[in-house]
Amino acid sequence: MAAILTTQDVWADRRHRVKELRARQGFARQLLDFYGALLAVQEKAYVEAASVRPAGRNLASYCADVVVPGIVDVSLFAGPDQLRSQLLHRLETEQPLRMIEQWIAGDSQAMVDRYLARASLGPVLEALDAEARATCGGPRDARHCPECGGPPQLSYFERSADDLATGPRRLLCARCGASWGYPRMTCPGCSEDESTKLPVFSEYGTASGERGSVVRGLPADPVADPVHAVFPHVRIEACESCRQYVLSIDLATDRAAVPVVDEVAAIPLDLYARERGFTKVIPNLMGF
Ligand SMILES: [Zn+2]
Ligand SMILES: [Zn+2]
Repeated sequence: MAAILTTQDVWADRRHRVKELRARQGFARQLLDFYGALLAVQEKAYVEAASVRPAGRNLASYCADVVVPGIVDVSLFAGPDQLRSQLLHRLETEQPLRMIEQWIAGDSQAMVDRYLARASLGPVLEALDAEARATCGGPRDARHCPECGGPPQLSYFERSADDLATGPRRLLCARCGASWGYPRMTCPGCSEDESTKLPVFSEYGTASGERGSVVRGLPADPVADPVHAVFPHVRIEACESCRQYVLSIDLATDRAAVPVVDEVAAIPLDLYARERGFTKVIPNLMGF
């Protein structure tokens, strides 16, 4: 039981962080309101799955029957207009079961299908063990989740033991929420490790030895207004070789950060990367 109690704290941390960022990042308020409502439904799905423990072979049907109705409801109630209309339209012609099966298999799929599949399956996979995650398709290499084969949603630097320095780098799975260690200054999209091909963009500029530049045009100007810098702990890690990027969250810089929440709320950084022609390794649950 101890493991489950610990994991439930994860949901409390996410809820708390949504509230914090909602107060701090006005531009992301609508999105965070929706994400907060979605998290409540996902937490319920997590608790239920932890108790029912559906078998790996029943994952898709379990999610379609038990989790999808709540995800559809909250999306239609609190989601952005575009998502609502796409979802309504799509549900007329496609079974949620099929969308979930495709996401489990790692097939490419329409954004709205992936949203519904991912929002429904994510908390269930989080609640289950490695055996259930092992039924998912996808490569088991350094750039994919060792447990389910999913792609990396984001990169983060752990807090180090001595508190001041930045800890090891990890990637977080877009499908099951597991994380794994990954070398610094190496592209999670193609393994490029030539530093001249790996630009880093951040609000404050970059650490010495890394190429990149300061992100301009964000809601607060960190040079003129350092106290109100919005993303001191988030940066864009891009790659000139594959033209992909991920956002990276530094937990040593902001100890209260919750990577999966902070990544979703950093929309201006996504827009900045996109303007420069980079594509995220995989869009996050909110589609950015
Ligand atoms: Zn995974
Ligand atoms: Zn790359």
